Amino acid sequence: MVTFVNVQNVASWISAVGVEPIIDGMVSYLEADFGRWDRFDKTPRVASHSLYGVIELMPTSDGTTYGFKYVNGHPVNPKRGLQTVTAFGVLADVESGYPTFISEMTLLTALRTAATSAMAAKLLVPKDATTMAMIGTGSQSEFQALGFRSVLGIESLRIWDTDPDAMAKLVTNIEPLGFDITVASSAADALDGAQIITTCTADKTNATILNDADIVGGVHINAIGGDCPGKTELDTALLRRSMIAVEYTEQTRIEGEIQQLEENWPVTELWEILTGKKPGRSDAEQITIFDSVGFAIEDFSALRYLRDGVEGTDFFDSLDLIADPEDPKNLYGMLDV
Ligand code: NAD
Repeated sequence: MVTFVNVQNVASWISAVGVEPIIDGMVSYLEADFGRWDRFDKTPRVASHSLYGVIELMPTSDGTTYGFKYVNGHPVNPKRGLQTVTAFGVLADVESGYPTFISEMTLLTALRTAATSAMAAKLLVPKDATTMAMIGTGSQSEFQALGFRSVLGIESLRIWDTDPDAMAKLVTNIEPLGFDITVASSAADALDGAQIITTCTADKTNATILNDADIVGGVHINAIGGDCPGKTELDTALLRRSMIAVEYTEQTRIEGEIQQLEENWPVTELWEILTGKKPGRSDAEQITIFDSVGFAIEDFSALRYLRDGVEGTDFFDSLDLIADPEDPKNLYGMLDV
């Protein structure tokens, strides 16, 4: 039997434990897995692009456990009442090859994306940061805000979205949790007084969500939305004067903001900063960018965290997923024909 966590159970588990404690816990799983980087199989995700968006498979293995996520990215979806991003994921036992765990990952992806942003921010954010600008207040945004509060104590948000309803939704959802939220009149206005800037927009184009001229020294940019070929958010002039951290260089050169730069443009992988191999922020005036695209090891960490979290609870079912006849050579014998 395969342990199966459906959407309702993931939602109930999150409600029971709390978004911030989960993101906090996930950060420690991410740090553990990024800290043993060499142990993992790594490959850029396998993407199938279409006019509508992209469908991707994201596999990895640490030699004991194998994992993958199925995920889509369809910026047109909200216009027809669907999510931009949906996902499910699997863990399997490397020794037998049998799947052991399967879960919804749309909610889990929002948590792991926020946890990864928070892990990067711990390494790069300037000291004493108090305020985050958030450009793009769609599905990921509340999770991002809660991630930055859980790890860095950020409670002051300045938000901007081209859709006023999306901003109103964010205010309704998280202002009651104690956030001090200012609704800005433009992206540039949102940046005023912010030491951290999260860009989390969805548009399949080379957008300029942040203009180089609007960015002052010393900020940390958490760039989430540019995660596909031809789908970016940042001005190249801004990239060229910033320190850029990535998850897995080979994948980010295809999908991230740095697809706009020369192929050998220097970047630092998060695991290198985490393990002390390379420095993070060098000085208070440096602009740092986390060029986030989402990498398979993050989903592996998130699935591990959920698997461990639901163990011994009622938040899962057992799924009869694998045909496993008593005589392993008599698959046919399972049929009633
Ligand atoms: P969403 O569609 O729910 O929200 C996107 C928001 O961006 C919308 O509210 C839209 O109005 C706003 N927007 C679009 N263009 C804008 C602009 N020019 N200025 C201001 N706001 C603008 O999408 P989501 O699920 O929140 O995902 C956001 C983005 O993050 C997507 O591009 C998605 O592919 C990406 N994403 C990345 C990761 C990662 O690991 N890096 C993980 C999940 C999602």
